[in-house]
Amino acid sequence: MPAERLMPTQESADLIDLTRTIADKELRPYVVEYEAKGEFPRELFRTLGRLGLLSLPYPEEYGGGGQPYEVYLQVLEEIASVWASVGVGVSVHALSCFGLFTAGTDEQKKKYLPELLAGDLLGAYCLSEAHAGSDPAAMRTRAVRDGDNYVIRGQKAWTTHGGVADFYKVMARTSDDGGAGISCFLVSADSPGLAAATPELKMGLRGSTTSSMLFDDVRVPADRRLGEEGQGLRIALAGVDAGRLGIAAVATGLAQSALDVSVAYAKERETFGKPIIEHQGLAFILADMAAAVESSRATYLAAARLKDAGRPYRRQASIAKLVATDNAMKVTTDAVQVLGGAGYTRDFPVERYMREAKVMQIFEGTNQIQRLVISRALNR
Ligand SMILES: Cc1cc2nc3c(=O)[nH]c(=O)nc-3n(C[C@H](O)[C@H](O)[C@H](O)COP(=O)(O)OP(=O)(O)OC[C@H]3O[C@@H](n4cnc5c(N)ncnc54)[C@H](O)[C@@H]3O)c2cc1C
Repeated sequence: MPAERLMPTQESADLIDLTRTIADKELRPYVVEYEAKGEFPRELFRTLGRLGLLSLPYPEEYGGGGQPYEVYLQVLEEIASVWASVGVGVSVHALSCFGLFTAGTDEQKKKYLPELLAGDLLGAYCLSEAHAGSDPAAMRTRAVRDGDNYVIRGQKAWTTHGGVADFYKVMARTSDDGGAGISCFLVSADSPGLAAATPELKMGLRGSTTSSMLFDDVRVPADRRLGEEGQGLRIALAGVDAGRLGIAAVATGLAQSALDVSVAYAKERETFGKPIIEHQGLAFILADMAAAVESSRATYLAAARLKDAGRPYRRQASIAKLVATDNAMKVTTDAVQVLGGAGYTRDFPVERYMREAKVMQIFEGTNQIQRLVISRALNR
Protein backbone atom coordinates (compact mmCIF):
# COMPACT_ATOMS: atom_id res chain seq x y z
CA MET A 1 0.00 0.00 0.00
CA PRO A 2 1.59 3.36 -0.96
CA ALA A 3 2.32 5.66 1.97
CA GLU A 4 -0.36 8.30 2.49
CA ARG A 5 1.19 11.72 1.93
CA LEU A 6 -0.04 15.26 2.21
CA MET A 7 2.21 17.06 -0.29
CA PRO A 8 2.50 20.88 -0.20
CA THR A 9 1.64 21.40 -3.91
CA GLN A 10 0.11 19.52 -6.84
CA GLU A 11 3.50 19.67 -8.57
CA SER A 12 5.12 17.83 -5.65
CA ALA A 13 2.29 15.26 -5.55
CA ASP A 14 2.94 14.61 -9.26
CA LEU A 15 6.65 14.25 -8.50
CA ILE A 16 5.86 11.53 -5.95
CA ASP A 17 3.71 9.68 -8.51
CA LEU A 18 6.48 9.98 -11.10
CA THR A 19 9.06 8.68 -8.60
CA ARG A 20 6.89 5.65 -7.82
CA THR A 21 6.60 4.87 -11.52
CA ILE A 22 10.34 5.28 -12.12
CA ALA A 23 11.26 3.21 -9.05
CA ASP A 24 8.92 0.42 -10.15
CA LYS A 25 10.17 0.38 -13.72
CA GLU A 26 13.85 1.27 -13.42
CA LEU A 27 14.87 -0.01 -9.98
CA ARG A 28 12.61 -2.83 -8.74
CA PRO A 29 13.55 -5.35 -11.46
CA TYR A 30 17.26 -5.18 -10.52
CA VAL A 31 17.32 -5.09 -6.69
CA VAL A 32 17.65 -8.79 -5.90
CA GLU A 33 20.27 -9.46 -8.59
CA TYR A 34 22.55 -6.54 -7.68
CA GLU A 35 22.23 -7.03 -3.91
CA ALA A 36 23.09 -10.74 -4.32
CA LYS A 37 26.11 -9.93 -6.52
CA GLY A 38 27.20 -7.03 -4.33
CA GLU A 39 27.44 -4.87 -7.46
CA PHE A 40 26.96 -1.11 -7.65
CA PRO A 41 24.27 -0.14 -10.21
CA ARG A 42 26.17 2.80 -11.74
CA GLU A 43 24.00 2.97 -14.89
CA LEU A 44 20.81 3.27 -12.83
CA PHE A 45 22.24 6.37 -11.14
CA ARG A 46 22.80 7.88 -14.59
CA THR A 47 19.14 7.20 -15.33
CA LEU A 48 18.05 8.84 -12.05
CA GLY A 49 20.36 11.76 -12.82
CA ARG A 50 18.93 12.28 -16.29
CA LEU A 51 15.43 12.21 -14.80
CA GLY A 52 16.45 14.94 -12.36
CA LEU A 53 16.23 12.84 -9.20
CA LEU A 54 19.86 13.40 -8.11
CA SER A 55 19.67 17.16 -7.79
CA LEU A 56 16.26 17.85 -6.25
CA PRO A 57 17.20 19.96 -3.19
CA TYR A 58 19.40 22.43 -5.11
CA PRO A 59 18.29 25.68 -6.80
CA GLU A 60 17.25 25.64 -10.43
CA GLU A 61 19.78 28.38 -11.30
CA TYR A 62 22.55 25.78 -10.80
CA GLY A 63 20.70 22.97 -12.55
CA GLY A 64 18.96 21.61 -9.46
CA GLY A 65 15.33 20.65 -9.02
CA GLY A 66 14.50 23.57 -6.68
CA GLN A 67 12.56 21.37 -4.26
CA PRO A 68 12.26 21.99 -0.51
CA TYR A 69 13.58 19.30 1.82
CA GLU A 70 9.99 18.40 2.72
CA VAL A 71 9.54 17.21 -0.88
CA TYR A 72 13.05 15.92 -1.60
CA LEU A 73 13.00 13.66 1.46
CA GLN A 74 9.67 12.11 0.54
CA VAL A 75 10.97 11.38 -2.97
CA LEU A 76 14.02 9.82 -1.33
CA GLU A 77 11.78 7.74 0.93
CA GLU A 78 9.91 6.40 -2.13
CA ILE A 79 13.20 5.44 -3.83
CA ALA A 80 14.49 3.74 -0.67
CA SER A 81 11.25 1.84 -0.18
CA VAL A 82 12.11 0.04 -3.41
CA TRP A 83 15.91 -0.10 -3.04
CA ALA A 84 17.70 1.08 0.11
CA SER A 85 21.19 1.04 -1.47
CA VAL A 86 20.03 3.45 -4.17
CA GLY A 87 18.24 5.65 -1.61
CA VAL A 88 21.47 5.89 0.40
CA GLY A 89 23.34 6.70 -2.83
CA VAL A 90 20.99 9.56 -3.69
CA SER A 91 21.38 10.96 -0.16
CA VAL A 92 25.18 10.64 -0.25
CA HIS A 93 25.32 12.37 -3.64
CA ALA A 94 23.21 15.27 -2.31
CA LEU A 95 25.51 15.50 0.70
CA SER A 96 28.62 15.53 -1.52
CA CYS A 97 27.36 18.70 -3.25
CA PHE A 98 26.26 20.34 0.01
CA GLY A 99 29.68 21.82 0.95
CA LEU A 100 30.06 23.51 -2.43
CA PHE A 101 26.54 24.90 -2.20
CA THR A 102 26.80 26.22 1.36
CA ALA A 103 30.48 27.21 1.58
CA GLY A 104 31.58 27.74 -2.02
CA THR A 105 32.09 31.23 -3.45
CA ASP A 106 29.73 32.41 -6.20
CA GLU A 107 32.52 31.76 -8.67
CA GLN A 108 33.06 28.19 -7.42
CA LYS A 109 29.33 27.47 -7.45
CA LYS A 110 28.93 28.76 -11.01
CA LYS A 111 32.02 26.85 -12.14
CA TYR A 112 31.41 23.44 -10.52
CA LEU A 113 27.84 23.05 -9.27
CA PRO A 114 25.97 22.75 -12.63
CA GLU A 115 28.31 19.94 -13.64
CA LEU A 116 27.82 18.09 -10.33
CA LEU A 117 24.04 18.46 -10.58
CA ALA A 118 23.66 17.69 -14.29
CA GLY A 119 23.06 14.03 -13.62
CA ASP A 120 25.97 12.16 -15.13
CA LEU A 121 28.41 12.71 -12.28
CA LEU A 122 28.18 10.94 -8.94
CA GLY A 123 29.60 12.29 -5.69
CA ALA A 124 31.04 10.86 -2.48
CA TYR A 125 32.29 12.39 0.75
CA CYS A 126 35.36 11.46 2.76
CA LEU A 127 35.13 12.44 6.40
CA SER A 128 35.75 9.24 8.40
CA GLU A 129 39.11 7.61 8.93
CA ALA A 130 39.98 4.27 10.50
CA HIS A 131 40.72 5.99 13.84
CA ALA A 132 38.30 8.88 13.40
CA GLY A 133 34.70 7.79 12.91
CA SER A 134 32.58 9.13 15.76
CA ASP A 135 35.35 11.64 16.48
CA PRO A 136 36.26 13.13 13.07
CA ALA A 137 38.38 15.86 14.71
CA ALA A 138 40.93 13.07 15.32
CA MET A 139 41.59 12.75 11.57
CA ARG A 140 45.17 12.52 10.32
CA THR A 141 44.94 12.94 6.53
CA ARG A 142 46.88 16.09 5.65
CA ALA A 143 46.59 18.75 2.99
CA VAL A 144 49.76 20.82 2.64
CA ARG A 145 49.80 24.05 0.62
CA ASP A 146 52.28 24.05 -2.26
CA GLY A 147 51.98 27.16 -4.44
CA ASP A 148 48.62 27.14 -6.20
CA ASN A 149 47.87 23.61 -5.03
CA TYR A 150 47.32 21.54 -1.93
CA VAL A 151 48.93 18.13 -1.68
CA ILE A 152 46.77 15.59 0.15
CA ARG A 153 48.27 12.53 1.79
CA GLY A 154 46.51 9.95 3.97
CA GLN A 155 43.69 7.46 4.00
CA LYS A 156 39.95 7.98 4.40
CA ALA A 157 37.75 5.06 5.50
CA TRP A 158 34.24 3.89 4.71
CA THR A 159 33.63 6.03 1.63
CA THR A 160 30.22 5.29 0.13
CA HIS A 161 30.75 5.30 -3.68
CA GLY A 162 34.52 5.02 -3.06
CA GLY A 163 36.07 4.03 -6.39
CA VAL A 164 32.87 4.58 -8.39
CA ALA A 165 32.30 8.30 -7.73
CA ASP A 166 33.38 11.07 -10.10
CA PHE A 167 34.19 13.58 -7.36
CA TYR A 168 34.89 13.53 -3.62
CA LYS A 169 34.23 16.08 -0.92
CA VAL A 170 37.31 15.53 1.22
CA MET A 171 38.05 16.76 4.72
CA ALA A 172 41.78 16.95 5.48
CA ARG A 173 44.00 18.52 8.11
CA THR A 174 45.71 21.82 7.19
CA SER A 175 46.98 22.50 10.74
CA ASP A 176 47.35 20.70 14.06
CA ASP A 177 44.64 22.82 15.65
CA GLY A 178 42.22 19.90 16.39
CA GLY A 179 38.76 20.39 14.89
CA ALA A 180 39.70 23.93 13.82
CA GLY A 181 42.61 22.62 11.74
CA ILE A 182 40.52 20.82 9.12
CA SER A 183 39.69 22.09 5.61
CA CYS A 184 37.33 20.92 2.89
CA PHE A 185 38.27 20.16 -0.73
CA LEU A 186 36.49 19.10 -3.88
CA VAL A 187 38.66 16.40 -5.44
CA SER A 188 38.18 14.99 -8.91
CA ALA A 189 38.22 11.18 -9.15
CA ASP A 190 40.80 11.23 -11.94
CA SER A 191 43.39 13.08 -9.80
CA PRO A 192 46.76 11.28 -10.00
CA GLY A 193 47.60 9.53 -6.70
CA LEU A 194 43.97 8.90 -5.74
CA ALA A 195 42.91 5.24 -5.53
CA ALA A 196 40.23 3.13 -3.90
CA ALA A 197 41.00 0.09 -1.75
CA THR A 198 39.13 -3.20 -2.19
CA PRO A 199 35.48 -2.59 -1.23
CA GLU A 200 34.31 -3.72 2.23
CA LEU A 201 32.38 -7.01 2.39
CA LYS A 202 29.26 -5.85 4.20
CA MET A 203 26.40 -7.56 6.01
CA GLY A 204 23.81 -5.66 3.94
CA LEU A 205 23.42 -2.71 1.58
CA ARG A 206 25.66 -4.72 -0.72
CA GLY A 207 24.59 -2.80 -3.82
CA SER A 208 26.22 0.28 -2.29
CA THR A 209 30.02 0.26 -2.66
CA THR A 210 31.98 1.20 0.48
CA SER A 211 35.78 1.58 0.22
CA SER A 212 38.72 3.27 1.83
CA MET A 213 40.24 6.00 -0.33
CA LEU A 214 44.01 6.29 -0.55
CA PHE A 215 45.56 9.72 -1.10
CA ASP A 216 49.16 9.44 -2.22
CA ASP A 217 50.25 13.07 -2.67
CA VAL A 218 47.11 14.04 -4.56
CA ARG A 219 47.45 17.58 -5.93
CA VAL A 220 44.30 19.67 -5.68
CA PRO A 221 44.13 23.23 -7.12
CA ALA A 222 43.70 25.76 -4.30
CA ASP A 223 40.51 27.08 -5.91
CA ARG A 224 38.91 23.70 -5.07
CA ARG A 225 39.14 24.42 -1.34
CA LEU A 226 35.63 25.13 -0.04
CA GLY A 227 35.45 27.82 2.63
CA GLU A 228 38.48 29.12 4.48
CA GLU A 229 41.26 26.97 5.89
CA GLY A 230 40.06 25.57 9.21
CA GLN A 231 36.34 25.64 8.35
CA GLY A 232 36.26 22.08 7.00
CA LEU A 233 34.80 20.33 10.03
CA ARG A 234 32.08 22.95 10.37
CA ILE A 235 31.20 22.53 6.68
CA ALA A 236 31.19 18.74 7.06
CA LEU A 237 29.01 18.75 10.16
CA ALA A 238 26.49 21.15 8.58
CA GLY A 239 26.29 18.71 5.67
CA VAL A 240 25.88 15.80 8.03
CA ASP A 241 22.82 17.49 9.60
CA ALA A 242 21.16 17.48 6.17
CA GLY A 243 22.47 13.97 5.51
CA ARG A 244 20.90 12.72 8.74
CA LEU A 245 17.51 13.79 7.40
CA GLY A 246 18.29 11.83 4.25
CA ILE A 247 19.07 8.69 6.23
CA ALA A 248 15.91 9.17 8.32
CA ALA A 249 13.87 9.23 5.08
CA VAL A 250 15.68 6.18 3.71
CA ALA A 251 15.05 4.26 6.96
CA THR A 252 11.38 5.23 6.83
CA GLY A 253 11.05 3.89 3.27
CA LEU A 254 12.71 0.65 4.32
CA ALA A 255 10.36 0.28 7.31
CA GLN A 256 7.32 1.07 5.12
CA SER A 257 8.26 -1.77 2.76
CA ALA A 258 8.75 -4.19 5.66
CA LEU A 259 5.30 -3.23 6.96
CA ASP A 260 3.71 -3.66 3.51
CA VAL A 261 5.20 -7.13 2.98
CA SER A 262 4.12 -8.12 6.51
CA VAL A 263 0.51 -6.97 6.14
CA ALA A 264 0.12 -8.68 2.74
CA TYR A 265 1.54 -11.92 4.18
CA ALA A 266 -0.58 -11.76 7.33
CA LYS A 267 -3.76 -11.44 5.26
CA GLU A 268 -2.88 -14.56 3.23
CA ARG A 269 -1.26 -16.87 5.74
CA GLU A 270 -3.70 -18.94 7.78
CA THR A 271 -3.22 -20.73 11.09
CA PHE A 272 -5.87 -22.19 13.36
CA GLY A 273 -8.40 -21.75 10.55
CA LYS A 274 -8.03 -18.02 9.93
CA PRO A 275 -5.60 -15.44 8.50
CA ILE A 276 -2.89 -14.63 11.05
CA ILE A 277 -3.85 -10.92 10.89
CA GLU A 278 -7.03 -11.95 12.71
CA HIS A 279 -5.05 -13.22 15.69
CA GLN A 280 -4.88 -10.22 17.97
CA GLY A 281 -1.40 -11.08 19.23
CA LEU A 282 -0.08 -10.83 15.66
CA ALA A 283 -2.29 -7.92 14.59
CA PHE A 284 -0.93 -5.79 17.44
CA ILE A 285 2.62 -6.34 16.18
CA LEU A 286 1.45 -4.94 12.82
CA ALA A 287 -0.27 -2.01 14.53
CA ASP A 288 2.94 -1.12 16.38
CA MET A 289 4.88 -1.38 13.12
CA ALA A 290 2.44 1.02 11.41
CA ALA A 291 2.67 3.45 14.32
CA ALA A 292 6.47 3.36 14.15
CA VAL A 293 6.56 4.03 10.38
CA GLU A 294 4.19 6.99 10.63
CA SER A 295 6.07 8.41 13.63
CA SER A 296 9.33 8.22 11.69
CA ARG A 297 7.81 10.09 8.74
CA ALA A 298 6.24 12.76 10.93
CA THR A 299 9.52 13.27 12.79
CA TYR A 300 11.72 13.73 9.73
CA LEU A 301 9.12 15.99 8.10
CA ALA A 302 8.99 18.22 11.18
CA ALA A 303 12.78 18.64 11.00
CA ALA A 304 12.67 19.20 7.22
CA ARG A 305 10.11 21.99 7.58
CA LEU A 306 12.39 23.76 10.07
CA LYS A 307 15.27 23.48 7.58
CA ASP A 308 13.08 24.75 4.73
CA ALA A 309 12.06 27.72 6.87
CA GLY A 310 15.74 28.58 7.45
CA ARG A 311 15.50 27.77 11.16
CA PRO A 312 18.15 25.80 13.13
CA TYR A 313 17.42 22.08 12.91
CA ARG A 314 20.52 20.20 14.16
CA ARG A 315 18.80 18.75 17.25
CA GLN A 316 15.69 17.80 15.26
CA ALA A 317 17.82 16.18 12.51
CA SER A 318 19.48 14.02 15.14
CA ILE A 319 16.10 13.16 16.67
CA ALA A 320 14.75 12.22 13.23
CA LYS A 321 17.78 10.05 12.44
CA LEU A 322 17.61 8.36 15.86
CA VAL A 323 13.85 7.74 15.81
CA ALA A 324 13.60 6.64 12.17
CA THR A 325 16.57 4.28 12.21
CA ASP A 326 15.74 2.69 15.58
CA ASN A 327 12.16 2.28 14.31
CA ALA A 328 13.43 0.73 11.07
CA MET A 329 15.49 -1.78 13.04
CA LYS A 330 12.49 -2.75 15.18
CA VAL A 331 10.00 -2.83 12.28
CA THR A 332 12.23 -4.93 9.99
CA THR A 333 13.01 -7.37 12.83
CA ASP A 334 9.28 -7.68 13.56
CA ALA A 335 8.63 -8.25 9.85
CA VAL A 336 10.83 -11.36 9.98
CA GLN A 337 8.79 -12.51 12.99
CA VAL A 338 5.46 -11.91 11.24
CA LEU A 339 6.53 -14.10 8.32
CA GLY A 340 7.70 -16.88 10.65
CA GLY A 341 10.12 -19.35 9.02
CA ALA A 342 9.51 -17.80 5.61
CA GLY A 343 10.83 -14.50 6.93
CA TYR A 344 14.18 -16.09 7.69
CA THR A 345 14.68 -17.19 4.08
CA ARG A 346 15.68 -15.31 0.95
CA ASP A 347 12.30 -16.13 -0.61
CA PHE A 348 11.10 -12.87 0.95
CA PRO A 349 12.91 -9.52 1.19
CA VAL A 350 12.42 -8.96 4.92
CA GLU A 351 15.67 -10.66 6.02
CA ARG A 352 17.50 -8.24 3.69
CA TYR A 353 15.56 -5.29 5.07
CA MET A 354 16.65 -6.30 8.58
CA ARG A 355 20.32 -6.42 7.52
CA GLU A 356 19.96 -3.07 5.75
CA ALA A 357 18.29 -1.40 8.73
CA LYS A 358 21.26 -2.22 10.99
CA VAL A 359 23.71 0.05 9.18
CA MET A 360 21.31 2.98 9.38
CA GLN A 361 21.88 3.00 13.16
CA ILE A 362 25.62 3.25 12.50
CA PHE A 363 26.44 5.63 9.65
CA GLU A 364 25.90 9.40 9.38
CA GLY A 365 26.83 9.37 13.10
CA THR A 366 25.94 6.35 15.25
CA ASN A 367 22.77 6.57 17.28
CA GLN A 368 24.90 7.03 20.41
CA ILE A 369 26.34 10.14 18.74
CA GLN A 370 22.79 11.33 17.91
CA ARG A 371 21.96 11.02 21.62
CA LEU A 372 25.12 13.02 22.37
CA VAL A 373 23.98 15.82 20.01
CA ILE A 374 20.46 15.84 21.49
CA SER A 375 21.58 15.76 25.13
CA ARG A 376 24.19 18.51 24.56
CA ALA A 377 21.43 20.70 23.09
CA LEU A 378 19.29 20.01 26.17
CA ASN A 379 22.19 21.02 28.43
CA ARG A 380 22.79 24.35 26.64
C1 LIG B 1 28.19 1.18 5.13
C2 LIG B 1 28.87 2.40 5.65
C3 LIG B 1 28.95 3.52 4.85
C4 LIG B 1 29.60 4.67 5.32
N1 LIG B 1 29.74 5.75 4.47
C5 LIG B 1 30.51 6.79 4.85
C6 LIG B 1 30.82 7.86 3.93
O1 LIG B 1 30.34 7.88 2.79
N2 LIG B 1 31.67 8.83 4.33
C7 LIG B 1 32.22 8.87 5.57
O2 LIG B 1 32.98 9.79 5.87
N3 LIG B 1 31.94 7.88 6.49
C8 LIG B 1 31.11 6.85 6.15
N4 LIG B 1 30.85 5.83 7.03
C9 LIG B 1 31.49 5.85 8.36
C10 LIG B 1 30.51 6.01 9.48
O3 LIG B 1 30.03 7.32 9.53
C11 LIG B 1 31.21 5.57 10.78
O4 LIG B 1 31.32 4.16 10.72
C12 LIG B 1 30.49 6.00 12.02
O5 LIG B 1 30.55 7.38 12.17
C13 LIG B 1 31.06 5.32 13.27
O6 LIG B 1 32.43 5.43 13.32
P1 LIG B 1 33.31 4.12 13.65
O7 LIG B 1 32.86 3.05 12.73
O8 LIG B 1 34.73 4.53 13.63
O9 LIG B 1 32.87 3.69 15.10
P2 LIG B 1 33.53 4.22 16.47
O10 LIG B 1 33.61 5.71 16.45
O11 LIG B 1 34.78 3.46 16.72
O12 LIG B 1 32.43 3.79 17.54
C14 LIG B 1 32.35 2.46 18.05
C15 LIG B 1 31.18 2.40 19.05
O13 LIG B 1 31.42 3.32 20.12
C16 LIG B 1 30.33 4.21 20.25
N5 LIG B 1 30.82 5.52 20.66
C17 LIG B 1 31.87 6.22 20.13
N6 LIG B 1 32.02 7.38 20.77
C18 LIG B 1 31.04 7.45 21.71
C19 LIG B 1 30.64 8.42 22.69
N7 LIG B 1 31.29 9.58 22.82
N8 LIG B 1 29.60 8.12 23.50
C20 LIG B 1 28.92 6.94 23.38
N9 LIG B 1 29.25 6.00 22.47
C21 LIG B 1 30.27 6.26 21.64
C22 LIG B 1 29.70 4.27 18.85
O14 LIG B 1 28.34 4.67 18.92
C23 LIG B 1 29.85 2.82 18.40
O15 LIG B 1 28.82 2.05 18.95
C24 LIG B 1 30.17 4.68 6.61
C25 LIG B 1 30.04 3.55 7.42
C26 LIG B 1 29.42 2.42 6.96
C27 LIG B 1 29.34 1.21 7.85
